[in-house]
Amino acid sequence: MITGDDYLKSLDDGRVLHIDGRRIDDVVTDPLTRVPAASVAAGYDAVAAGLPPFDRPLLAPPTTPLELRAAVDALTHVDMLAHTTFTSAMSLRTVAPALDRLDPVSGERARSHVDRLADEGLRVATCITDAKGDRSRHPGEQGDPESYLAVVDRTSDGVVLRGAKLHITGAALAHELFVMPTKKMRAGEERFAVACAVPVNAPGVTILNTSYQFRGADDRSHPISSRRQMPEGFVVFDDVFVPWDRVFLDGQVEMSARFAHAIGLWERLGSIADMAHDADLMVGLAQLAAEANGLTRVEHVRQKISEIVIYATLVRSGLEAAIANTASTSDGNLVPDELFTNAAKYHGAAEFGLMARHLIDIAGGAVATAPAIADLESPETGAYVRRYMAGSPGFGGEDRLRVLHAVRDFVADSYGGWRAVTTLHGGGGLHAQRLVARFHYPMAEALALARDAAGLSPA
Ligand SMILES: Cc1cc2nc3c(=O)[nH]c(=O)nc-3n(C[C@H](O)[C@H](O)[C@H](O)COP(=O)(O)OP(=O)(O)OC[C@H]3O[C@@H](n4cnc5c(N)ncnc54)[C@H](O)[C@@H]3O)c2cc1C
Repeated sequence: MITGDDYLKSLDDGRVLHIDGRRIDDVVTDPLTRVPAASVAAGYDAVAAGLPPFDRPLLAPPTTPLELRAAVDALTHVDMLAHTTFTSAMSLRTVAPALDRLDPVSGERARSHVDRLADEGLRVATCITDAKGDRSRHPGEQGDPESYLAVVDRTSDGVVLRGAKLHITGAALAHELFVMPTKKMRAGEERFAVACAVPVNAPGVTILNTSYQFRGADDRSHPISSRRQMPEGFVVFDDVFVPWDRVFLDGQVEMSARFAHAIGLWERLGSIADMAHDADLMVGLAQLAAEANGLTRVEHVRQKISEIVIYATLVRSGLEAAIANTASTSDGNLVPDELFTNAAKYHGAAEFGLMARHLIDIAGGAVATAPAIADLESPETGAYVRRYMAGSPGFGGEDRLRVLHAVRDFVADSYGGWRAVTTLHGGGGLHAQRLVARFHYPMAEALALARDAAGLSPA
């Protein structure tokens, strides 16, 4: 069983990482990657300890909806990289039977890759999103021939990749990159129809990182994001060689959308689990801010909190329904319900901005302007902060300050901005969920109801 320490040591493998225009020499100690590296290590330790909710191995395939629910719940307690590793493994299991129909060797490669991830305790980042260039053009019509990651050479030993995958969560801290096409490729676009596993330290891989980490001196005014962080990677593949035993798809355009579809489904299930958790946090913050401001009996405040309560409950209902209505592949692997997963992800993402607005409205302008903890500790200013930041009885200046800092961090600062964008785009934008939801909705039944209501004969 790999411990957090083993994991941190494993990152010293020659990987090429950059951030803010400079090279990261040591990802474990660099000020902008230290916290997320430690959080992944803590995730390893939690899984190694085997205590609830980690009483099953991270990648053990759930065999019942209850086991799936427990696995998804457990993931809300750990780092994002544990999420993306679980998502990758479940997606590979989901596509393996379809790969068998194409070529049994590919299906077996996918299965044995998941076994290897589990045996070696590796962490995986999911690389779907291409640079894409001009969005109105197909991959084969782009000015830059590698706007979509492409196979540029093929030998008896494997393939050579060129291109980039953007916004890749946790890439700098993973061991493996699970690479797959962004979308369905057409005939003539075979070079973009590639799915494979690439070690993060493979020659030719360079990762430019971004981080929403607060860059000031004192983390205490950012109580959520100082603990909850993960860099996103702009991953460049500059003629990266991938041996055949790591290639799951090479040129079969008819299969190209399968991977993104499977990963989209699993990614969205993870997203709604996170959203349900964060929506509960939002309810709590709204209620706490109302209490701190002495506004719990004010009608418009109560209505806004009720709306956040309903939002949280609907997102959680979608999660529960997606898990309760699982299907299974011919291998017997569980797959969450497409319609409930996509409808819940859409609702959670589309309404998040309104819920953030309610929270900021209730908490007040000090969300943006509340002084720092250091001002509270300063002998020159502390008394002012205590006195004038105080709210209702029971909420002295310090307590109210801490509530305001948490609201600011969660919805109104660097991490809050990241959260607004990732809620909308992570796991694919709103349009993707609209398409999948409509595709899986029982439209014929709805039409039959409508024909009957209108007095028309059945179609
Ligand atoms: C914080 C964060 C983390 C992420 N993590 C990962 C990750 O780990 N792995 C990964 O692979 N990806 C990741 N993503 C990427 C995410 O999946 C994409 O951002 C998302 O799919 C949208 O793609 P895009 O950003 O290229 O935007 P675009 O595709 O450019 O979309 C922008 C808008 O244009 C519309 N649009 C685009 N093309 C067309 C068209 N042809 N016709 C009509 N409308 C169009 C879209 O619907 C959308 O409204 C992450 C994103 C974020 C923000």
